[in-house]
Amino acid sequence: MSAPPLTQLGRSRPQAAWHVATVAEVRRETSTAVRLTLDVPTWPGSEAGSHLDLRLTAPDGYQASRSYSIASSAPGGPVVLAVDELPDGEVSPFLVHEVRPGDQLEVHGPLGSFFVWRPGESDRPVQLVAGGSGVVPLYAIAAAHGAAGDTSPLRLLYSVRRPGDVLFADELAALRGPAFELELVYTREAPATWAGPVGRLDKEALAASTVAASARPRVYVCGSTRFVETIAAWLQDLGHAAADIRTERFGGL
Ligand SMILES: Cc1cc2nc3c(=O)[nH]c(=O)nc-3n(C[C@H](O)[C@H](O)[C@H](O)COP(=O)(O)OP(=O)(O)OC[C@H]3O[C@@H](n4cnc5c(N)ncnc54)[C@H](O)[C@@H]3O)c2cc1C
Repeated sequence: MSAPPLTQLGRSRPQAAWHVATVAEVRRETSTAVRLTLDVPTWPGSEAGSHLDLRLTAPDGYQASRSYSIASSAPGGPVVLAVDELPDGEVSPFLVHEVRPGDQLEVHGPLGSFFVWRPGESDRPVQLVAGGSGVVPLYAIAAAHGAAGDTSPLRLLYSVRRPGDVLFADELAALRGPAFELELVYTREAPATWAGPVGRLDKEALAASTVAASARPRVYVCGSTRFVETIAAWLQDLGHAAADIRTERFGGL
């Protein structure tokens, strides 16, 4: 029996459980990241912004699990992940270089009820702030916002090192429109046509590129732990209430 569409579940959240996923496609996303499309026949659907735990088991029984945000949220479709390689990591180099279509992986989810966006939940503007692969759940939110035809203003500020590091570049560009604005920050190298600055965000640039606190946006921040903590602290300095800021930390420094 296939899982019921998420729309039939109303506000109730899909229950987390272990599932067997078959890798349907491995696509090179950037020089360091792949997009994994997984067929998970028992998957109950997920809300935009949620994640799963992925477990690998070696032939000798050794297991390693890591969390990955879910880039997809459409009910009944495949589960899409984007994994960026940490060269000295245990799991991500395997997922980026070794996984092939037809391989089976175990996934547990969907997980997370706080860092999610639900269509029609609020008319307030939404500000997304992504650092590197932290864009994955925020892309899912932007895609769900577009698919729902939600007209509440949504803005994504996305910090990458170089132009070639943008995940879901074509999809994000296609989502641009009256209700969705995308602004990129290049920290090391920008496109030749780029007229803006190159370098890390600072508090002033964050203020200039995000919805003002006076408009009471709901804010979602995702990336490495240091990125998230820095941005969240600056947002509070800029007058955003802590209760309006949702954060997801990917780890590292
Ligand atoms: C909720 C959640 C969602 C996540 N979603 C994604 C996702 O969509 N895509 C994705 O690529 N990753 C995501 N991550 C990170 C992912 O879980 C792993 O941490 C990452 O793939 C590294 O695993 P590893 O086994 O290769 O490295 P490890 O062997 O675990 O770590 C190697 C070294 O890198 C450091 N490190 C670990 N994680 C990070 C990091 N994120 N940044 C910098 N240094 C780090 C460790 O401290 C260690 O020194 C997510 C993490 C969480 C908690």
